[in-house]
Amino acid sequence: MKVLIVEDQERLGHFLKQGLSESRYTVSWVRSCAEANDAMAETTFDVIVLDLGLPDGDGLDLLRTWRRGGFTEPVLILSARDTVEDRIKGLDIGADDYLPKPFSLEELQARVRSLVRRQAAVKNAVLEHNGVELDLLSHTVRLEGKPIELTNREYALLEVFMHNQGRILPRTLIAEKIWSSHYDVDTNLLDVYMSRLRNKLETASGRTLFKTVRGVGYQLL
Ligand code: CA
Repeated sequence: MKVLIVEDQERLGHFLKQGLSESRYTVSWVRSCAEANDAMAETTFDVIVLDLGLPDGDGLDLLRTWRRGGFTEPVLILSARDTVEDRIKGLDIGADDYLPKPFSLEELQARVRSLVRRQAAVKNAVLEHNGVELDLLSHTVRLEGKPIELTNREYALLEVFMHNQGRILPRTLIAEKIWSSHYDVDTNLLDVYMSRLRNKLETASGRTLFKTVRGVGYQLL
């Protein structure tokens, strides 16, 4: 799951990034409307945490533009503007939730979880393929019914394959989905993570789950 944080306050941005990373999300943090639009043009996000008072504009205008452009993933507004009118305005424009500042990290994590859960219920909560089960809500993985311990990055990697079962996935595409940006992707690092994931899944089951497609990428069989 990839989260985009749009927040110009340094301390709050760090706090949000750290807090949501702890919840095993892949987090990108930008500080302005322009950067937010660049990030949205560059890759996809599953949840957006959006501040309203930004140095180069208003978060509500960003949200309006995204919704008009067909963006349907959940957006949580974080704002010091806290009148009922402000909240209604935000929700009318297309926010899914509105959290007034200041707030606790626990509450933010709970709200984001709830948005992800709502969205996942619309999509599919448990992805299954070839004996592998990946639970998008609890972020857990089972192989032939047995729990498998994965790190955040290994989990994110497996999630990409589970969403693209049977497809040959180019290395750049995989890297783009699990790292926040497709710039400066170290593809050697991808091989390291692939080999760890294979060790955990293939060694445990004694089966080949992934195929290396030389010169292209990988495939979940
Ligand atoms: Ca602000």
